[in-house]
Amino acid sequence: MKIGVLTSGGDAPGMNAALRAVVRTTLSYGHEAYGIYNGYKGLVENNIKQLDRNDVGQILNRGGTILGSSRLPEFKEEAVRQIAVDNLKKMGIDALVVIGGDGTYRGGMALNQMGINVIAIPGTIDNDIASTEYTIGFFTALDTAIDAIDKLRDTSFSHRRCTVVEVMGRDCGDLSIYSGIACGAEIVVTKETGYDKESIIEQVRAADRMGKRHAIIVVAENITNVFDLAKDIDANTDYAARATVLGYIQRGGTPSSFDRILASKMGVSAVELLMEGKGGLAIYTNSLEIGSVPIQEALTAKREITDLYSYLQKLN
Ligand code: ADP
Repeated sequence: MKIGVLTSGGDAPGMNAALRAVVRTTLSYGHEAYGIYNGYKGLVENNIKQLDRNDVGQILNRGGTILGSSRLPEFKEEAVRQIAVDNLKKMGIDALVVIGGDGTYRGGMALNQMGINVIAIPGTIDNDIASTEYTIGFFTALDTAIDAIDKLRDTSFSHRRCTVVEVMGRDCGDLSIYSGIACGAEIVVTKETGYDKESIIEQVRAADRMGKRHAIIVVAENITNVFDLAKDIDANTDYAARATVLGYIQRGGTPSSFDRILASKMGVSAVELLMEGKGGLAIYTNSLEIGSVPIQEALTAKREITDLYSYLQKLN
C-alpha cells in the first residue's frame, strides 16, 4: 500500500507526533509512506515526497508541523479536488490520512467520496470537533494558557487588579472553561455562557465584597473587545482592570505528554484502519470519564495492563 499523510488548517502541537506515528506504522507494516506538503495545496500542486523512518526522526517533541499547513478555499470546488485525486492516482497513493480541524475533515470527506480512502485525525488546539472528547494540541495550548494566566494572577494579586484575559478557541469555549477551572478564574465568558456585561460587572463587585484581592475573567475569542470590557470594569468597580490577549503563543510549543501519546495512538490507529480497507472515518478518543465504585472494589480490582505496549514497536 502507499499511504499519504498531510496536515491542514490551523497547526497544533502534536501534529508532528501524529505524522511520525502514521509514517512509522506504515513502514513497520511494510508499506510506503508519502508526505504531502502544505495541506490540500500540496495535493493540488503535487508537492508530495516519499518519507522514510529518518524523515520523521527528531520531530516527536516539536510543535507546529514539519509538513507545513495552509488554507486552500478552492478545495471546495470539485474540479480542484479532481486535480488532487489525479495526482494521488498517478503516484499510486490510494489511502490518505488528514490531520486537522473540521475544515480539514470536510476536505477529507469530499476526497473520500471521490474514491480515495481517507481517515481523519483531530488536530486543533480549539477542541471543537464534537465526535472526540479531546483533539491533538488542546492540552498543550491549555498548558500555555494556564502558565500565562498564573503569571497574570501574580501581578493581579500584587496590584489588587481585575485581569481580563482572552484565550483562543475559535467558536469553542473549551480552552476558556478548562483554563478557567485550572486557574481558579472568577468568571468565564464563552459562546456557551453568553455575554452580559452588566452581570460580569456585578460578579466582579461581588468578588470585591468577598474580600478578594484580585479577580480573573477568562473570555473566549470572538466574544467582545476585552480592552473595552476592562475599561468598563475599571470605571464601574473598585478594581483597576487590565486586559491581555494571549493570541498565537497558544498555538506553539513542545507538545505535552498527553498530546504526544494521543497523537501516537491516533496515528497508529489511522493506518491500521486504512490497512483494513476502511475509509471515511474520523478517529476519536473518549477516555477521561469520571465515575465511582465501592472502595472495596477499588482495592480488589485488577489493574488492566495498558495497551500502550502494543503501540511501541510500531512507532520505532
Ligand atoms: P481547520 O481544518 O483547522 O478547521 P480550515 O477550516 O481552514 O481549518 O480548513 C482547512 C482546509 O480544508 C481549507 O483551507 C480547505 O482547503 C479545506 N476545506 C475546508 N472546508 C472544505 C469543504 N467544505 N470542502 C472541501 N475542502 C474544504
